[in-house]
Amino acid sequence: MNIDLEIFSPVQQINDRLFDEHEVKVFIKRDDQIHPMISGNKWRKLKYILKNAQNQHKNHLVTFGGAYSNHLLATAAAAAKFGFKATGIVRGEEVNNDTLFLCKLHGMQLIFTDRESYRDKPALFQQYFDSDAEAFFIDEGGSSTEGALGCSELVDELTEHYEHIFCACGTGTTAAGIINGLTHHRLKINFNAIPVFKNGGFIKEEIDKFLTIPAIYDLHTDYHFGGYGKTNDELIKFIKQFVANTGIVIEPVYTGKMMYAIYDLIGKGHFKPGSNILAIHSGGIWGLLGLKDKF
Ligand SMILES: *Cc1c(COP(=O)(O)O)cnc(C)c1O
Repeated sequence: MNIDLEIFSPVQQINDRLFDEHEVKVFIKRDDQIHPMISGNKWRKLKYILKNAQNQHKNHLVTFGGAYSNHLLATAAAAAKFGFKATGIVRGEEVNNDTLFLCKLHGMQLIFTDRESYRDKPALFQQYFDSDAEAFFIDEGGSSTEGALGCSELVDELTEHYEHIFCACGTGTTAAGIINGLTHHRLKINFNAIPVFKNGGFIKEEIDKFLTIPAIYDLHTDYHFGGYGKTNDELIKFIKQFVANTGIVIEPVYTGKMMYAIYDLIGKGHFKPGSNILAIHSGGIWGLLGLKDKF
């Protein structure tokens, strides 16, 4: 099947008294609406990876992730849509949860592996698929040059001017792609990365690895809420209010932390009056299902 992924991702404005008080406008690019399962940046990241697999006549996608990985689910759904077989190598002992249920629903085979072995992904790939000439290795989170290239295309779709763009960072591939897009279009937009990990400063190295030309951007490392997948009452309260006020669903692992950061920085007067701020809704709302008990 031709992997010409049609992308529809509108930008909409969101309103809040806080924004009026600080004379800023906030917009959100709805990458979560690109596809219900292959949502957001995962679709963009997979585009050129899948094209590569297809060009090399590999029809079996093999990738890696934790038990709640949005990337595993996106790969499972993309594989089903475009006629690939898929295997997910999952970190940790065998479990069942909503994300893995959805992976299996799309026909993905799952292999659970201990945390020690999980560290060496090429070795695992070799161990299980050495004799499978059609197997195609996709790194955890779709982290790759191709992934960054797909994400850079987000910038092609922008029709308005913004002073700031915000994006949540896991591997940093999406951030790097967007920064590359800004560089390519010579846009003077300040990029703001929100790492979702504790001590997220290391993400700079990960982002810089995928930059086509070195660039300056802002890293806000204080919005991790205790670390990856961690949350607290304040974040949950914020998310509930945001969803109820806007009708836009966000979740605590990525987009909730990014939106919280934007509101917090606005409240602290971080932005010049008159600024337009664009948040990237990178999708991943199925991740909510794994955190139901926090709400
Ligand atoms: C995976 C994911 C990210 C992180 O993307 P990276 O390219 O790994 O930095 C951000 N938001 C959501 C919703 C995700 O699922």
